Amino acid sequence: MTRVFNFSPGPATLPEAVLRRAADEMLDWHGCGMSVMEMSHRGKDFMSIFAETESLARELLAVPANYKVLFMQGGALGENAIVPMNLIGRTGKADYVVTGDWSKKSLKEAGKYGAARIAASGDASNFTAIPKQSEWKLDPAASYVHICSNETIGGVEYHWTPDTGSTPLVADMSSNIMSRPIDVSRYGVIYAGAQKNMGPSGVTLVIVRDDLLGHALPITPSAFNYQVQAENESMYNTPPTYAIYIAGLVYQHIKASGGLAAMEKHNAQKAALLYDFLDESRFFTNKVAKADRSLMNVTFWLKDAALDDEFVKGAQARGMVQLKGHRSVGGMRASIYNAMPAEGVKALVAYMKDFEARHA
Ligand SMILES: *Cc1c(COP(=O)(O)O)cnc(C)c1O
Repeated sequence: MTRVFNFSPGPATLPEAVLRRAADEMLDWHGCGMSVMEMSHRGKDFMSIFAETESLARELLAVPANYKVLFMQGGALGENAIVPMNLIGRTGKADYVVTGDWSKKSLKEAGKYGAARIAASGDASNFTAIPKQSEWKLDPAASYVHICSNETIGGVEYHWTPDTGSTPLVADMSSNIMSRPIDVSRYGVIYAGAQKNMGPSGVTLVIVRDDLLGHALPITPSAFNYQVQAENESMYNTPPTYAIYIAGLVYQHIKASGGLAAMEKHNAQKAALLYDFLDESRFFTNKVAKADRSLMNVTFWLKDAALDDEFVKGAQARGMVQLKGHRSVGGMRASIYNAMPAEGVKALVAYMKDFEARHA
C-alpha cells in the first residue's frame, strides 16, 4: 500500500490512524456484531458514539454552555440558505463581508430570504486581503453579520475576530475549524462542513447561541430548523451516522495529539515552510497580503503558467497530488489541513526548489 501526500482542498486527507481504526471497526464495532453504518441512530450504541462526538466537539472548541452543538446535513452551501432561513427573520436584513468565492456564494444565497447586503468587500484587492474592520459599514439593524473565516479558494484567512457589537457574528469555518483555538463566545453561529478538517463529507457541524433559536422563517424545512434540531438533539431526522462516527474518531485523534493549541503550532510551522520558501523564490509567488495568508490553503503561481502542467505531473510522480489551483483563480494550491504531516510540506518545498532550479 502506498499513500500519497494529498493536498486536496476537500474532501481532504484524514489522519491515517483514524482510517486504520475505522477499518478495524468496520465489520464489528466494539463487539456489537455490526458496522456503525448498520446501527439504528436511536439505539444505545450509536447514541453513545453520538454523545461522545458531541462532547469532544464541545471540549476541543471550548463551547460555552449557552450554545447548542448540532450535526446537520446539507453541507456548508446548505447552511448558506439554512442560516438566513433561521436568522434573517429577526429584522429582514443581514450584512455580508465578501472576501472571496465562498462568501460571494453565501451572500447570493441569503438574498433569496431577505435583504442581504455587502458590508465590506475585498474586491479592491482582487480578494487578496481581508478588508480591515475600520472599513466595514455595518447596518445596526442587520439580523447578523456573516463572514467566511478562511477562503478555501483564494487562500485568505482571518487571523483576528471581528467585533460586531450586539449584532450576532456568523462564520463559515468550513476550511479552518479546529485548526486553532477560537473564542466561540464571540460568535452567534459557527458552521463548518466536515470534509476539510474534521472527517468525511455529509455532516456539517453547527454551533448556535441559544437566543438565536426560534426565529426561523415559516418556510424553513423542519429538518433545517435549528430549534427543531436542537430540541431533538440533531435527530429530528436520521443524521449522517457514519460521517458523525468518523468525525468523532478525528476529534479523539486531535485530543490525543494535544488539542487545538497543538494543531495551531503544527499548522503554523507547516505554513511557514511554504510561505518562507515562496517569499524567497524568484519563480513562485503568492499574492495574498502577508497578514491575511491562510495557514490552511496556500495558493501560489509559477512564473510561467505554461509550466503548470509539467509542475503538476512532476508532483504526482513524486506522490504529491491535488495541487492544481481552483479553476476560477488558476495557479496552484496546497491545502495543508491538520492531517497533512510536516513531511508532506517538506517534500513539496523540496520539489518546488528542484523545479525552480531546473526552470529558472
Ligand atoms: C468547501 C467549502 C464550502 C462548501 O461546502 P459543501 O459541503 O460543498 O457545501 C463552503 N464554504 C467553505 C469555506 C468551504 O471551504
